[in-house]
Amino acid sequence: MGRKIVVAIGGNSLIKDREHQTVEDQYGAICETASQIAEICRDNRVLITHGNGPQVGFILQRSDIAFQSAAHMHRVPLVSCDADTQGAIGYQIQQALGNEFRKGGWDKNVVTLVTQIEVDRDDPAFEKPAKPIGSFYTPEEAEMIRQTNLDWQLMEDAGRGFRRVVASPLPKEIVELEAIRTLYERDFVLIAAGGGGIPVVSEGGQFRGVDAVIDKDRASALLASRLEADVLIISTAVTHAALNYKKENEERLGRIDRGTMGKYLEEGHFAAGSMKPKIEAALDFLERGGKEAIITDPAHIVDALEDRTGTRIY
Ligand code: ADP
Ligand code: MG
Repeated sequence: MGRKIVVAIGGNSLIKDREHQTVEDQYGAICETASQIAEICRDNRVLITHGNGPQVGFILQRSDIAFQSAAHMHRVPLVSCDADTQGAIGYQIQQALGNEFRKGGWDKNVVTLVTQIEVDRDDPAFEKPAKPIGSFYTPEEAEMIRQTNLDWQLMEDAGRGFRRVVASPLPKEIVELEAIRTLYERDFVLIAAGGGGIPVVSEGGQFRGVDAVIDKDRASALLASRLEADVLIISTAVTHAALNYKKENEERLGRIDRGTMGKYLEEGHFAAGSMKPKIEAALDFLERGGKEAIITDPAHIVDALEDRTGTRIY
């Protein structure tokens, strides 16, 4: 049944710019991505994961605004916002991909699986928020926010502006792995580990949700290696990972072995919270037995899989 492929859809890749971030705009972006993914489902076994950086930030901010401005409105904890994004984004992917299959007259099942991922309660990431979520702010806006939202931490995000950051612990175990594996092997097209999974900690054999956002690239690499996938495709807003990103001597990376990529990673070419976790996830996946990891944008998923574009690490 072809290759075993995990495709990770970037949350930021679903939002083209500030003027196109409504739910309808995001569905449009998902439809474009879905037509590419449907194409690779024809001959391969495919599982889809997705990020939630912008979306989880919007939900959290909406909750804060409602809490401050309306009587009797409760706050929504971050972990619950994570779960909300699995449902809302999963629904859109499930519908768009299902429609592609219906269009092609293919008999394929698509299903979204609510996924919890265990993290370490002592993960140092809880003390050092580093995962950017929600909107981008100018330096002036960021300064205003610092003065009014005292509990927010902000960070510059890859030359694109300032963003709120939250804790992002490492994923350890996928709670629903057996269910995922069973459906995957039975040829269901699965959407799982959305938003990096819902972070939970284990306490005396019971799980409890924690307020954090797991990086979806790391969660996707973990899931891909647990499923013994051949290829991990990371779909994001750029066609390639680059050296000297956004500088005059920027250089896009094409085919590259993991040793060389590891060296570039150490040299600090990839920004924390955006490209760095993708490169780390790709190398991690290869180290655990994966054959290749591809980084490209939604429009080039098919081309990249066929080795015509994108960054391909082997
Ligand atoms: P996603 O939602 O897909 O995870 P991110 O915004 O987290 O997207 O990460 C992708 C972004 O990383 C790119 O859009 C780009 O702005 C940024 N980036 C940082 N460093 C690099 C680099 N060296 N090469 C390419 N892109 C980079
Ligand atoms: Mg990201």
